Amino acid sequence: MGCVSVVRYEGAKSVAEAISLSGAFKNIKAGDRVFVKPNIVFWSHLVQMPPFGVITSTAVSEPVIRCLKDLGVKEIVVGESPMGTDPSISVSSYAFEALGYDAMKRRYGIKTLDILKGPFRDVELSGEVFGLSEAFCSADAVVSLPVLKTHAQTKVSLGIKNLKGCLDAKGRKRFHSSTLEKDLNHYVAFLAGVHPNTSVVTDGIYTLEKGPGFTGKARRSDLILASSDLLSADLVGASLLGFKPDEIAHLQKVCEARGVAAHGGWVETVGLKVEEEAKPHRWDFPYNQEMTLPAGMAKAGVSGLNFPKYDHSLCTHCSSIVGLLQFGLGAAYKGEPFDEVEVLTGKMHTPTPGKNHTILLGKCQVLKNRKHPHIKHPICVPGCPPDLKKLVAGVREAGIEMDENLFAHFDFAPALFMAPYEGRPEFSLEHFHHSSV
Ligand code: SF4
Repeated sequence: MGCVSVVRYEGAKSVAEAISLSGAFKNIKAGDRVFVKPNIVFWSHLVQMPPFGVITSTAVSEPVIRCLKDLGVKEIVVGESPMGTDPSISVSSYAFEALGYDAMKRRYGIKTLDILKGPFRDVELSGEVFGLSEAFCSADAVVSLPVLKTHAQTKVSLGIKNLKGCLDAKGRKRFHSSTLEKDLNHYVAFLAGVHPNTSVVTDGIYTLEKGPGFTGKARRSDLILASSDLLSADLVGASLLGFKPDEIAHLQKVCEARGVAAHGGWVETVGLKVEEEAKPHRWDFPYNQEMTLPAGMAKAGVSGLNFPKYDHSLCTHCSSIVGLLQFGLGAAYKGEPFDEVEVLTGKMHTPTPGKNHTILLGKCQVLKNRKHPHIKHPICVPGCPPDLKKLVAGVREAGIEMDENLFAHFDFAPALFMAPYEGRPEFSLEHFHHSSV
């Protein structure tokens, strides 16, 4: 167990202070090879997306790297594989460049790694074999650099969840399983013990409601957390986001495995008082009572459409489409009921009898339900990620006139979400550039 520091962010010195107050790097020695895992969940190489509360800021990652250099570590590898709007393009090199990691290569001699390019090592998690980044597994120490943010499926995404990005592409999808017994929380909990020497520095300069992506709502919180213990840091992080730690299923599971109470009352903290800094952050996307339509669409009176709530089995590629599709369908509703259309997503949804058209979004749904006897008119949108052209054509086939341009400009959609932050000086892109530190 480790102590957790909670420090007000007032520049790079606050990051160093959080590390030294908590002893976060006490298990890292001169000569070690260290793997640093920032959270760069998404990147657009075409437009400016809001990074606030979504990705780890350079204002935090660079002081961390400097602290590691001061300790005399032998090698620092920064590894991440952000997702972009077009999965055929690797955006990691764009992200590393824009966020200042290339400049840090020259300045501190660090290396960067696109995790998805491998190699991977087979590791047993929950009795199954998963591919984990070799650079991560073979490092003497790991530093997880999550953002203090919420997550639509796991409620929070902090130091433990951040390590999911060290899996290969197949493993990431398998974590979003098709069973309730071994759900996403079940697998994420195993990441807490996957590397024996993992410390954490949590970036709470910006925190995020309705995360984990750029569609969420960020706020300026100016908090930095650090600890040599992932679980302790995440329990405190969850409290700061306004949760009772025992409400977070994956943290509960890790506590159970370690034989400690999930309320986290045993965690030692230094610095700011957690109860004074804790602020409720919304994480869920509300639906109607029947869970058949997002609350906003139900309130607008949309009828003749069933769009059941996503479950844990929906993975990142499909999630990024669902929100825009719901927006498009809502905008296409002109007061006349749709012709009993249902949209199914993920790996677990099953069709409702009596619907006239059933859109099966993504490879998993197509394989699962295309021959289901309850479906009168299956509209298959194959692919992983789902084929957007087939999606637009499929919606039309179901009798809905959705704006075709919506998905034609999918690559540029992230820029639309910058609008709420414009003209607000507390949201500064400078935190995401090397030169600012
Ligand atoms: S089709 Fe969707 S749910 Fe299935 S693996 Fe791909 S992203 Fe996940």
